[in-house]
Amino acid sequence: MSDKFDVIVIGGGPAGYHAAIRAAQLGLKTAVIDAFVGKDGKQALGGTCLNVGCIPSKALLDSSKQFYNLAHNLPAHGISVENAKVDLKTFIGRKEKIVKQFTGGVAQLFKANKITSYFGTGKLLGRDKSGGNAVEITGNDGEKQTISATNVILASGSVPIELPFAKFDNKFIIDNAGALELDAVPKRLGVIGAGVIGLELGSVWRRLGAEVTVLEALPDFLGTADADIAKVASKEFGKLGLNIKLGAKLTKAEVKKSEVQLTYNDKDGDHDIVVDKLLVAVGRRAYTDGLLAEDSGVKLDERGRIIVDEHCHTGVDGVWAVGDAVRGPMLAHKGFEEGMAVAEWIAGKAGHVNYDTIPWVIYTEPEIAWAGKTEKQLKEEGIPYKVGSFPFAAIGRAVAMNEAIGQVKMIAHAETDRILGVHMVGPGVSELIAECVVAMEFKGSAEDMARIIHAHPTLSEAVHEAALSVDKRAIHKGN
Ligand SMILES: Cc1cc2nc3c(=O)[nH]c(=O)nc-3n(C[C@H](O)[C@H](O)[C@H](O)COP(=O)(O)OP(=O)(O)OC[C@H]3O[C@@H](n4cnc5c(N)ncnc54)[C@H](O)[C@@H]3O)c2cc1C
Repeated sequence: MSDKFDVIVIGGGPAGYHAAIRAAQLGLKTAVIDAFVGKDGKQALGGTCLNVGCIPSKALLDSSKQFYNLAHNLPAHGISVENAKVDLKTFIGRKEKIVKQFTGGVAQLFKANKITSYFGTGKLLGRDKSGGNAVEITGNDGEKQTISATNVILASGSVPIELPFAKFDNKFIIDNAGALELDAVPKRLGVIGAGVIGLELGSVWRRLGAEVTVLEALPDFLGTADADIAKVASKEFGKLGLNIKLGAKLTKAEVKKSEVQLTYNDKDGDHDIVVDKLLVAVGRRAYTDGLLAEDSGVKLDERGRIIVDEHCHTGVDGVWAVGDAVRGPMLAHKGFEEGMAVAEWIAGKAGHVNYDTIPWVIYTEPEIAWAGKTEKQLKEEGIPYKVGSFPFAAIGRAVAMNEAIGQVKMIAHAETDRILGVHMVGPGVSELIAECVVAMEFKGSAEDMARIIHAHPTLSEAVHEAALSVDKRAIHKGN
């Protein structure tokens, strides 16, 4: 096999493997270099998302939800189960099987698309004599080799941010990967950061019985979500037993006698608490360690992210970057779209990423989902708007499921009626947001949505009624 390619992708996570498969589909000779080592010591493609992110966290969320429902939802259906127990080995083992299925699936897709896969660390060296971009690979066995391509796509992803005074030891102070691997339910779990990862993984262990305290430095709960949605979510998380402390800044974490002693500061001064495990989930940083030779020409911004233009181009001939390693939300599907668009731009096609309609989902109970602008953003931007909302309490299907919590809120332009944002909290909203994204992508209005037939009885009727409510004509509530 020749070591000259049309496209080399560094990083086989969601952004990188989408870029590679699309490039191969378009007839480009493609290679992927990925360094992620699976549990068996072999290469595990799929990056953070498949190995220690989206998929394993959703597997544990689903298992823990089933367990929680036994005591908290099924009795209302007249079903009771006594002495329900969790076998943690099976619980974690099921997640691992799912991870393996999907990481192996990416390897098979590479084979099917004739993509050459290298196991090791890639470093962009710069232009070689043939005018291509040279990449040095250090194999996981330490062997080095150099390959080159007309185009290199950097997709090196992100890693958890470590607090200098609460360094990960992966025993007591853990990151997201550690929180997916616990071999016993901790009696007391501390979580630093009430963001998506903290809330999702905190929910998993709370549902299994851990006392969970979440410390969030910011004064507002879920500040990026719509305020009405965050309010409902905060109340429901309280009912679950997540003890969320806002404006609480961790200042010290010390492991002593198999416990973690924490000190945090809030408006009332310093407080001490003791936990058995501490999950630090204060965000992620772009990962570019060892990725770029000094003279590669690729630049990083003040947060360490690879600088790119609106077409994910780095400004260096033939060098592109996508996914968590560049600006924009750190979401797998944002990386998917950037990866595919870059492959299309390389092939001379019209790639496209609409950053204004990226859906956000938090897979807690209730789920939270949104796309587009919040009321706060529209106020700040001086855009006139009108709002419609509808509660799941008045949706027959939600009541039948005994999950009648939350609401759908639709925001449309006051004059044109164009949908500017949709915000939801409640059952199944991770799926309901998709139709709103479609409507927004097609520049639809609230009236368009109101005139689209939604099956009865379904949860999607909440979207329909919210759209009707924008024009004060919801049927199943007062307007
Ligand atoms: C617990 C958790 C839950 C999440 N849940 C969701 C969710 O539900 N939905 C969602 O959209 N997002 C979720 N995310 C975020 C999502 O995982 C990331 O946005 C996504 O994985 C980013 O994709 P990426 O391809 O840019 O990078 P990554 O997935 O980080 O992949 C980068 C890959 O590149 C490799 N690499 C890095 N440098 C080199 C190098 N020099 N040479 C070779 N290989 C290299 C890494 O080993 C890795 O395999 C979650 C994240 C976490 C941690």
